Amino acid sequence: MKKLALHWQILLGMAFGVIFALIMTQFAWGPEFISDWIKPFGNIFINSLKLIAVPLILASLIKGVSDLKDISKLSKMGGRTIGLYIVTTIIAVSLGLLIVNAIAPGKTISKETRNELLESYRGDADLKIADAAKQQETGPLQALEDLVPSNIFKAASDNGNMLQVIVFAIFFGIGLILIPEEQAAPVKKFFDGFNEVILKLIDIIMLAAPYGVFALLAALVVESPSTDLFKALGMYAFCVLLGLSLMIGVYVILVWIFTKKTPRFFINGISPAQLLAFSTSSSAATLPVTMERVEEHLGVDEDVTSFVLPIGATINMDGTSLYQAVAAVFIAQAFGMDLSFSTQLGIIATATLASIGSAAVPGAGMVMLVIVLAQAGIPEAGLALIFAIDRPLDMCRTTVNVTGDAAVSMIVAKSVDKLHDPETKNWDDHYTK
Ligand code: ASP
Repeated sequence: MKKLALHWQILLGMAFGVIFALIMTQFAWGPEFISDWIKPFGNIFINSLKLIAVPLILASLIKGVSDLKDISKLSKMGGRTIGLYIVTTIIAVSLGLLIVNAIAPGKTISKETRNELLESYRGDADLKIADAAKQQETGPLQALEDLVPSNIFKAASDNGNMLQVIVFAIFFGIGLILIPEEQAAPVKKFFDGFNEVILKLIDIIMLAAPYGVFALLAALVVESPSTDLFKALGMYAFCVLLGLSLMIGVYVILVWIFTKKTPRFFINGISPAQLLAFSTSSSAATLPVTMERVEEHLGVDEDVTSFVLPIGATINMDGTSLYQAVAAVFIAQAFGMDLSFSTQLGIIATATLASIGSAAVPGAGMVMLVIVLAQAGIPEAGLALIFAIDRPLDMCRTTVNVTGDAAVSMIVAKSVDKLHDPETKNWDDHYTK
């Protein structure tokens, strides 16, 4: 019997997870059973993905940079990558602003619902505000200062320090380019082999993906808040989802225009990573799979993926920036505020920066939203309004974040002649006729 494609297996796992949880909620002991006996397997799955994120970045980035063999190629690729990341983020924020202004979801929410939401989620919102305050206390150049680790082992021991690991790996790779070939060769060989081992581990972990997402989704269903709140926030959620779907369209078109690869090819290639991003709400946890898919199924050379994707997972969050724009204006509308054009331009700038600063973990976008709100003069307490529905939207925006990274890596690869036919068979229809 032909084996089901991975994305179908994952989708089935997700669907069964939801159905199973819905059945279990019919029993009084059901939710607890899921929390105690099912959720841990989801956590094990996410942990095993996170486990290999730092070694993967180290090995693949060092290999990738040193394979470039010359610094000018590195700066060319670096410039294009960062440029494209910024352009796509600005497109995303602008799209979000257009939609939220046109639909005005904040005006559909009644005063009573508003007060009810503010009351129910005040505590949770305060926690996010406190997290954001910690980040805001720092000076203007703190983010830059934080890029350079003072101790690589310390940096590598915390998944939240991904950018520091990236900086070290690029620096190390540059060192490897600059030393004589015969001395560099054994070090490169070591990292080549190391990299292969990690890729094999990803293959093994992915065998468990359908079961992992089953557990994750089942746990999410039993932990989610009541559906009444979802209804109240329906229009807001609709705006975010519309923007996110349009963003996927933007990527597909960009990939088509710049690389001549069809939408079907792109989406088929990246879909398992998208589904995983959806299930885990974390671009960082998804990174190993994103890299594997983009390399082996979208045909991007390893020296491009190893450079573009880890950076993308940490700084390129188009879905997050779009959501931040929509959420900020929605909260303003719900409080009856009219935002001027210049305030909205300010939102473009702050949401772009805030998404760059958001960690690639669940809920991070909401913490940084506080900064966007503060800059635009919108009450931060408004965070409580959108709290109830944040997790499902986080799942969707993470999917877009990961798709954006993949699209940019294909375009960068094409521009430096590093896009080829993937080795996987059955892709004979991926070129546009
Ligand atoms: N969960 C998102 C990510 O990891 C970040 C966020 O928007 O909260 O990409």
